[in-house]
Amino acid sequence: MQYDAIIIGAGPAGLTAGLYLARASKKVLCLEQGRTGGQIATTNHLENYPGFPEGISGPELMDAFERQAKNFGLEMMNGRVDGFRDGGEFKEVSISGFPFTAKVVIVATGLVQKLGVPGEEEFLGRGVSYCATCDGALYRERPVAVTGTSDWAVEEALFLTRFASRVYVVTQLVSFNPEDEEGKSLLAKENVELVTAATPLEILGDMRGVNSLVIKTPEGDKTLFVDGVFIFSGKKRPGTEFLAGLVNLDAAGYVVTDENCETSLRGVYAIGDVRRPKFRQVATAVGDGAIAGMDCLRHLRAKAQ
Ligand SMILES: Cc1cc2nc3c(=O)[nH]c(=O)nc-3n(C[C@H](O)[C@H](O)[C@H](O)COP(=O)(O)OP(=O)(O)OC[C@H]3O[C@@H](n4cnc5c(N)ncnc54)[C@H](O)[C@@H]3O)c2cc1C
Repeated sequence: MQYDAIIIGAGPAGLTAGLYLARASKKVLCLEQGRTGGQIATTNHLENYPGFPEGISGPELMDAFERQAKNFGLEMMNGRVDGFRDGGEFKEVSISGFPFTAKVVIVATGLVQKLGVPGEEEFLGRGVSYCATCDGALYRERPVAVTGTSDWAVEEALFLTRFASRVYVVTQLVSFNPEDEEGKSLLAKENVELVTAATPLEILGDMRGVNSLVIKTPEGDKTLFVDGVFIFSGKKRPGTEFLAGLVNLDAAGYVVTDENCETSLRGVYAIGDVRRPKFRQVATAVGDGAIAGMDCLRHLRAKAQ
């Protein structure tokens, strides 16, 4: 399928660019690997986004972003972009080898939390996941591990308890005694086992995918025999692996752009946290989305002449 524009990532930046382009009657597809809304959809209360004097919840705000862009015809599809090819006039992005082409591509992949342990990249999509709501149902009656105890990790782990035979919640904290309802309800589940003071060391597996997670504990290294590892802890890094060697990235992997958010490759833009090592906010992501959306329109008009 051929589009005027493809946007990778449905956080505040991507949805804003989608709104601008779809409202100008362009054929636009937004590809999102997880749930719509990006990082801010994981927070309950946002007080510094203008227009909401009482504050607003992240999911509520992002739901409004999505509805507004869709009202103008933005198409949304679920999937993790793992390939990118510069075909000159048309750029090709792909999901597990399935290609989509467009005249312009906007990268709005934000930050992805990575453990940075051996096996994480190798088993990505074969047992390693960053989204329980996307992949959880694949683990029906199978054991899984969740790393982290942030609100987001707890929410995703709770989702997994509906499918998995056992959910190991692995945390570096020495103790985890949540006071909120979600945390309490997670620990009360029969199929949940909390593993404290534990640091993930390595994800192991074979041809079929993940089969275990090795962790370091005060009593020595231990192996959790799991079919899936859901990662919600570790260092946040820009989600730019599929762009390596195609556009200029800085040493930390952030995309380098000009003032219009265009990358070193003509027709490819980067917006929001993925290009911004400092001041990562919803308002700045929205600003980038608007700039790139308008510059893409200029680019598409110039190509049409
Ligand atoms: C807990 C928390 C609280 C915060 N609180 C505030 C606040 O109060 N105020 C504020 O202004 N900011 C806050 N922020 C920061 C704000 O959320 C970010 O700056 C903003 O979300 C950046 O938007 P973005 O669209 O650039 O990226 P993101 O929100 O990171 O969205 C990127 C999207 O791209 C998707 N994606 C990534 N890789 C791929 C791929 N390969 N294929 C397909 N999809 C992909 C991701 O799943 C994600 O949905 C907070 C962040 C967090 C984590």
